[in-house]
Amino acid sequence: MTRPRVAVWKFASCDGCQLTLLDREDDLLAVADAVDLVYFLEASSAPDDGGDFDLSLVEGSVTTPADVARIAEIRRRSRSLITIGACATAGGIQALRNFGDVRELMSIVYATPAFLDVLATATPISDHVAVDFELRGCPIDGTQLVEVISASLAGRRPVIASHSVCVECKLAGNPCVLVASATPCLGPVTHAGCGALCPGYNRGCYGCFGPSDSATTGPLTEVLRATGLDDAAIARLFATFNAWAPGFREVAVAAPGGEQR
Ligand code: SF4
Ligand code: SF4
Repeated sequence: MTRPRVAVWKFASCDGCQLTLLDREDDLLAVADAVDLVYFLEASSAPDDGGDFDLSLVEGSVTTPADVARIAEIRRRSRSLITIGACATAGGIQALRNFGDVRELMSIVYATPAFLDVLATATPISDHVAVDFELRGCPIDGTQLVEVISASLAGRRPVIASHSVCVECKLAGNPCVLVASATPCLGPVTHAGCGALCPGYNRGCYGCFGPSDSATTGPLTEVLRATGLDDAAIARLFATFNAWAPGFREVAVAAPGGEQR
């Protein structure tokens, strides 16, 4: 029987989400028995054979004109396309440039910016092609990734909770750091997936899984003000890995230096 052909692609990213896949080596070995992992440069030097794919996993955001053409080609060749991580689902940390002028930033960072061919913005994959499922996180959670791959190969919808980190705190029995010690925490508006890792160590959540499906930042902003943060500090809290995600973007734009495009 022909095994499903799977590919893993990288765009602008740090490779951390691909590493999460490699970290799950036991699960990966089981998956490798069930699929033909035909393109995954972080694990193998096998080149793209030019064929079609049953499943493409895509890490990273679109930041250059070449990226726009490449993701369109990958979409055309993929029966199912799933984006993994904050870069692919929200633009990532590199989307902070979307709040400013990319030409000015290039002139500060590079000695010869004239050699660069970049877009004015760093954007999620779904801004460019249809995406079958978005898996959030910076990096993604390995257990959720295995579920997404299994579901895709079985032809079913992945079972991924869409509630907030606060629910995971309750399930873990964590005392609420926001209530108990007035520690700023984005848990109420952040997508589940990490098991409330930071509050479990008495730290506030800084939103690395991006907005939860029902995120409303207005009421949380009021609570954050009561912890002593001013508006600029609140905006900076949202201006990280998922700054360009709708829901966080509207608050992050008020961070010092931010300027809505
Ligand atoms: S610590 Fe943060 S994530 Fe946990 S319940 Fe409190 S506000 Fe929610
Ligand atoms: S608690 Fe928040 S910042 Fe910490 S790992 Fe989870 S989603 Fe990320």
